[in-house]
Amino acid sequence: MLTELPFHIPFNKPYLTGNELRYIAEAAAQGKLSGNGAFTHRCQEFFQEEYGFGKALLTNSGTAALEMAALLLDLQPGDEVILPSFTFTSTANAFLLRGATLRFADSSALHPNLDPAEIARLITPRTRAVVVVHYAGVACNLAAILPLIEKHHLILIEDAAQAIESFHDRRRLGSVGHFAAFSFHETKNISAGEGGLLAINDAKFARRAEIIWEKGTNRAAFFRGETAKYQWVDIGSSFLPSEMTAAFLWAQLEHRQCILQRRRQQWITYEQGLAPLAALGLLLPHIPVYAQEHNGHIFYLICRSFEERQQLIQYLADQNILAVFHYQPLHNSPYFHSQYSGPNLRNSENYAQRLLRLPLYYELSEQQQSRVINHVLGFYTTQHLH
Ligand SMILES: *Cc1c(COP(=O)(O)O)cnc(C)c1O
Repeated sequence: MLTELPFHIPFNKPYLTGNELRYIAEAAAQGKLSGNGAFTHRCQEFFQEEYGFGKALLTNSGTAALEMAALLLDLQPGDEVILPSFTFTSTANAFLLRGATLRFADSSALHPNLDPAEIARLITPRTRAVVVVHYAGVACNLAAILPLIEKHHLILIEDAAQAIESFHDRRRLGSVGHFAAFSFHETKNISAGEGGLLAINDAKFARRAEIIWEKGTNRAAFFRGETAKYQWVDIGSSFLPSEMTAAFLWAQLEHRQCILQRRRQQWITYEQGLAPLAALGLLLPHIPVYAQEHNGHIFYLICRSFEERQQLIQYLADQNILAVFHYQPLHNSPYFHSQYSGPNLRNSENYAQRLLRLPLYYELSEQQQSRVINHVLGFYTTQHLH
């Protein structure tokens, strides 16, 4: 007899809102396919006007936005950049590529975001910048971090790759740092396949940002009629995406409220459904009061041990459900560990070992989500309750 396998529940599934291909066709019909055209302007103006970013430049990726921020810092040999260890490689690579010395900070014991006390520990006279990562779209403790930035005249870069539509109290993430990088990779809440955005909130960097963005030329100013010649005026690279990417992104931005509300609801459903696990000693996400308005980017559990997490991953995989772990600490990575001198970053290592992300995406149905919740609970109640 054939038994039907339950449908596979992936970890993530990119969501098309409906207008993406229509807008791409529009971009093509306008005969302007390279970057910095009508759809690019529409997206950038949206971020400046609706989100209050000083200047917004679309990029080919979140990585590219971080690289632009690093270029704008004009780092000198020996300059130091403080960043969390529990993050994606791009947060580090962008600054390493400019010759910075990386100083890795540990996460908080309560949540994966960096601990502000770690910034205080790592500041030296050579510190130039601090990069904060709003993990899972949950705000870092900016109220504790900003005074350190001001006191030591540092540059604050928000790696807001996961944090579109999230807030710290009433302040929108991405509007607080001198710079903020967003990602529109297909795994993020708002997607363009690959894509990103650099927000430049300190006006003194705005003009140079545009030059670096356009291969070191004053092309953007030239087309606005602000300069008589189109010339090579600084270093730069090709950071801007094509109009097709911007057109796709515009369709997604139009649906941002729908996407946000659905993800928030799914996040809350997990939080409520999995609440009984807290009594067993597992941890559900800790959302500080200042970060309550978050975008439901990731729902994670902190298992009691590495072994337990691996067993749970396997158990869910056997039920056709894909749950995944996340970052491995950068300070301990094959690339960096021989260059790292400093204490063990225990919290970062702990999240690497014990954190598990559950499926969360627009098209995850209520029924599918119940299945995930029931199997996670089932793992603990029927087989593994020690
Ligand atoms: C996704 C992500 C990036 C990189 O963004 P891309 O668009 O994939 O280049 C950087 N930092 C963090 C924290 C991310 O989640």
